[in-house]
Order: sequence, then structure tokens, then C-alpha cells
Amino acid sequence: MNDIIIIGGGPAGLTAAIYSSRGGMNTVLFEQFYPGGQMSSTHLIENYPGIESVSGMELAITMEKQAKSFGVSIVNEEVTSLELDSVNKLVKTPNNSYMSKTVILAMGASPKGLGVPGEDRFRGSGVSYCATCDGGFFRNKTTAVIGGGNTAVEDAIYLSKLCKKVYLVHRRDSLRAEKALQDAALSSGIEFIWNSVVDEIMGTENVENIVLKNIRTEETSNLAVDGVFVAVGTAPNSKIVRGLVDMNEYGYIHTDENMLTNMFGVYAVGDVRDKPIRQVVAAASDGATAAQAAVRYINEHQWA
Ligand code: NAP
Repeated sequence: MNDIIIIGGGPAGLTAAIYSSRGGMNTVLFEQFYPGGQMSSTHLIENYPGIESVSGMELAITMEKQAKSFGVSIVNEEVTSLELDSVNKLVKTPNNSYMSKTVILAMGASPKGLGVPGEDRFRGSGVSYCATCDGGFFRNKTTAVIGGGNTAVEDAIYLSKLCKKVYLVHRRDSLRAEKALQDAALSSGIEFIWNSVVDEIMGTENVENIVLKNIRTEETSNLAVDGVFVAVGTAPNSKIVRGLVDMNEYGYIHTDENMLTNMFGVYAVGDVRDKPIRQVVAAASDGATAAQAAVRYINEHQWA
């Protein structure tokens, strides 16, 4: 029997692990591949207080090291199902089952797709969802980033240092990204294509061009590019708890201010949770809050 099982090793899950193990709890964290979640594919983080600038991967590795130093067990297995309605929770992976007094859901979110013809066909052959992972393949080439949020603008700035030419295609005429990023983008040589969406991604073996539609004039045009970076938001990784915990229409999990879901002993933290801001610092805050609440819950109950 474990005290706290955490599912997901992004900043929310890793912070929960640090707080729960320092709180004296037997803590197991499930992470399928490597630590950091979406943070690990962020080129530079410049808004985490106390650290002027750090790569997402470096911060992830440091958080994981810190969690391990307090005794957290990290298990690289995929959690495939959960039984949450009893006092003791059951967490199943393809080959094992684990019992726990509490569960912290920290599965994060994943990039959304455009859903246009050619996107699936050219995934990995010119279509990417991670500029810091794949940008190097497009050195001195021409790329288009799709989206107008923080991710799109950060990706475009990152690519502008590698690529011959970077277009940023946005469906409106103003960016959603924060002001500091907008200012940086405006001085980095990126060409903005406003009021436009991608209708199709085309090529032979690799991407060669995208078909754009101006949503005001309905006119379509071809843009020759070697790569397309899709940055149109994220969707929560909450499939394994669908029907088990309350969530909103998009699959983001509802919690109270202690990160408690509608199930006793089950908490949700970070980007998988229904909340207004999705930042590393906010994920860390969720993790700390949930772990402290779980520690209190465990200490206040009698366990057989
Ligand atoms: P986001 O803020 O939801 O922005 C998604 C962008 O894609 C929006 O500009 C949206 O247009 C556009 N879009 C959505 N669907 C589209 C479609 N089908 N076709 C074309 N465009 C589409 O997503 P995000 O940038 O990935 O950020 C996710 C969260 O992480 C946000 O809370 C963000 O603040 C946070 N984040 C923070 C940082 C940072 O602090 N440095 C970095 C990255 C992400 P509209 O604007 O018209 O809706």
C-alpha cells in the first residue's frame, strides 16, 4: 500500500512528489518516458521566479533529481486504468497493479492538431508539434508556424534563429500571446500572415507547400514551406479518468481550491485541471497544494 501515487511527471506531478515525500509519505510517480511533460520541450523558460533563464529540459531534470533525493520512486510504466471509488485506490499498468491511499492526477495536456488534409500524412516529414525538438531539421529552410498564442510566438522566435524564413499564420489580426513575446516577435524578422487558416498541407515525400485561406476574403493561396509547426493549443490527457471524475466539456478536470476532485482522496493538478492559467509556476503551485492536502487527508484518517 502506497500513500500517494502521482500520475504524470511534468512540473505539477514532480512538485507534488517533492512535497509529499518531504511530508513523510511513501510516494510513487508514474511517468511513461522522460520527466518534464510539455515543459521539457520548451526552449527557454524566463518566467519561473528566481531563475532568470533555463531550458525546460534542464529544469525538468533538476526537479526529477530533487524528487528522487527525497525518496520518490519513479516508475516508467503507462497507467492504463484506475479504480478510484473505494477508500483504497487501484492503479493498473499493463503488467502490474498498485494500491494507494490517494491519487494525484497530473497527466498534463498534449498539442492539438489542425485536422486538415495532409496533416497526418506529413507528420514527421515536415509537420511538427514541437519547435525545440524538430527545429534543427529546418536550419536555413522556410517554415510556417500556425497559431497566435504563447506557444506559437515562442516557436516562431526560436525558429527565426535557425531558419531562412519564418511565417506566422494566425486566424485573427491580433495575437493572443503575452506582450513581451509579441514585442520580441515583431523584432525578429518573422513575417505575419493574418486572418488566415491552413486548408491543406501538400507535398510529395515531404511538405512542399500549404494552402492558406484568408477568412475575410475567402481567397486561397499557396505558400511554399519546408516545415509546418502546429501550435493551436492543447487538449487534456484525461481519457483514463473519463466517467470517473467530474470534468468540463473539453475534458479538463474540475477541482476545488485544494485540488480535490469530486472523489475523496483523488486530486488533479497542472494542465489537466480546469483553470485559467497554464504556466510552469502555476503547475508547481497546484502540485504543492494537492500534496499538502493529500498529506492532511492521510494523517486525519484511520487506515487498516
Ligand atoms: P492557446 O493559448 O490556446 O493559443 C492557441 C492559438 O491557436 C490561439 O491563437 C488560437 O486562435 C489558435 N487556434 C486554435 N485553434 C486553431 C485552429 N484550428 N486553426 C488555427 N488557429 C487556431 O495555446 P498555447 O499557445 O499552446 O498555450 C497553451 C497554454 O500554455 C496557455 O495558457 C499559455 O499561456 C500557456 N503557455 C505559456 C507560455 C509562457 O508563459 N511562456 C508558453 C507556452 C504556453 P485565437 O487566438 O483566435 O483563439
